[in-house]
Amino acid sequence: MRIVVKVGTSTLAHATGNTNIRRVETLCRVLSDIKNAGHEVLLVSSGATGMGSGKLGLLKKPEDIATKQAAAAVGQCELMYTYDKLFQQYNHCVAQVLLTRSDIEDPARREHLRNTFSRLLDFHVLPVINENDSVATEEFFIGENDSLAALVSTIVDADLVVLLSDIDGLFTANPHQNPDAELIEEVREITPEMRLKAGGSDSGFGSGGMSTKLNAAQTAMDAGIDMVIANGSHPEILYDIIEGKKVGTRFLARKESA
Ligand code: GLU
Repeated sequence: MRIVVKVGTSTLAHATGNTNIRRVETLCRVLSDIKNAGHEVLLVSSGATGMGSGKLGLLKKPEDIATKQAAAAVGQCELMYTYDKLFQQYNHCVAQVLLTRSDIEDPARREHLRNTFSRLLDFHVLPVINENDSVATEEFFIGENDSLAALVSTIVDADLVVLLSDIDGLFTANPHQNPDAELIEEVREITPEMRLKAGGSDSGFGSGGMSTKLNAAQTAMDAGIDMVIANGSHPEILYDIIEGKKVGTRFLARKESA
């Protein structure tokens, strides 16, 4: 299976913005094991701005563009240093790929990107992808990594996209506000009602939220790719997801009608 796994800032970092070492270590161990089992893995990792902010001693998410871009530049180094070191323990090689919207939308650049990913996977490398936050300006901005993960999955013709988040999946209502909210295990079609109920990000440093996840799901489903939203607090959950067990919310790929 070719799998794109996206981890959000809330999974990778503590509320302080500093790395959640135990979580990141577990994630790298599980992804290494999944690769050892013969799957191809691409990791879309957020956390650059959050980690950079932590390293620069900023107490909250920066708001102005220059500080955001500076924090992302600092944090991206920290992120790759951490991944390189941890994956190396399990004999896996990582590659950094930083993208803007135009790299994905321009047909020629998209084709180059597809070839680069394909060659990296031939070499059994684990690509670690993020938006190129320190140079992306508004017109080329994707803005959040849920959509980036779905777009990457369409470029590499993935079999599955997994968004690991701080929430168990899609609920019938906001579970933080409504104790009766129920987890929806399977979605065949994203309804206007789901979109209406989906909210923005609750986490201090992240940029996503349920509405960006639904957009990502739509992109993946339209491309014939299943997508799962699951809680990343225990990255071992990825084993169950790959085995097709009922975990989180699975958005089923649209099947071409005969
Ligand atoms: N690219 C951003 C970062 O690494 C994160 C975007 C997101 O939270 O989805 O900081």
